[in-house]
Amino acid sequence: MNLSKSDINKISEISKIIKQSKTFFIAGHIKPDGDSIGSALALASVLNRRGKKACVYSVDEIPKFVKFLKGSNKIKKAVKKTDKFDCAIILESVNFSRTGGIITPSQTKKIINIDHHLTYTDFGNVNYIVPSSSSTAELVLNIFEYMKIKLLKHEAECLYTGIITDTGRFQQVNTTPNSHIASAKLMECGVDVNKVYKEIYEKGSINALKLQGLALYGIKTILNNKVSYILLTKDIFKKTSTSEGDSEGVVNYTLRIDGVIVGCVFKEVDGKTTKVSFRSIRNFDLLKVVREFGGGGHKNAAGCTINAGIKEAVKIVEDVLRKKLKIK
Ligand code: 5GP
Ligand code: MN
Repeated sequence: MNLSKSDINKISEISKIIKQSKTFFIAGHIKPDGDSIGSALALASVLNRRGKKACVYSVDEIPKFVKFLKGSNKIKKAVKKTDKFDCAIILESVNFSRTGGIITPSQTKKIINIDHHLTYTDFGNVNYIVPSSSSTAELVLNIFEYMKIKLLKHEAECLYTGIITDTGRFQQVNTTPNSHIASAKLMECGVDVNKVYKEIYEKGSINALKLQGLALYGIKTILNNKVSYILLTKDIFKKTSTSEGDSEGVVNYTLRIDGVIVGCVFKEVDGKTTKVSFRSIRNFDLLKVVREFGGGGHKNAAGCTINAGIKEAVKIVEDVLRKKLKIK
């Protein structure tokens, strides 16, 4: 890949810190996705192979579809307050606390911040941020290439998982030539693309499928059919004996309706809290919407948490979208 001078400098800094450090804390954001877990596991495996002590952490349960990745069963939830690390590698996080407060910055000597989100802050000693990259996995691959590290098959599968999940199987607008080039390189390391695809997208319980069916059956459009939304209430999960992870990907159906510009999924957390996931077509910038609620993400895929019950959250979002879409 063609790296800018500034990126090469950052990668070189990262390489130096990695060489100097012995113990590593690696974490992505709360409610981790395929890219944060895949990138973190690949880093941990490579570092452990180089004689370092590296472990991946996640406060939240990891999604079911990444459990086939080697090392996913070794992910830890917490550390002791007295534990110290030479280096924390933080992925995909707008700030240090988006990792869920597993450690405080004072528990690590160095912080490496790697991200591809448009919303970011320079909280690390090195901040390798490339919003034009479709995934963090591609950035991690750049680091490995710079360090001349040859990947094992299972490490390549971790990064490949990051790329396919963050590009929506190479279909989303964030997909770049490099998403494919990086994937080709990973295939050369032995990735079984059919196996990975099946593990991520074509595996699940009958109840998970029923949950998605029920959720889809309730889909509604508002604002002159320019916005669609799906409600994931506690009741829907109860009826189908499912949990949050089983609803993975349902948001991607919201844009299938002709004329829809923004699709939303409202997930009832409790009576006063609702998690909202947004998807939009090309020109509609979701960051302008989620910023009003302290959320983040990308132009066409973003999210936030609203301090309101699910019904009220729909109204609140509708009002904001009405203004942004200039609908009377
Ligand atoms: P999803 O809808 O798949 O949960 O998230 C889409 C994108 O928005 C992801 O890149 C995710 O990291 C980001 N995102 C979702 N919710 C939040 C949030 O509450 N805060 C921030 N900063 N980013 C979020
Ligand atoms: Mn990502």
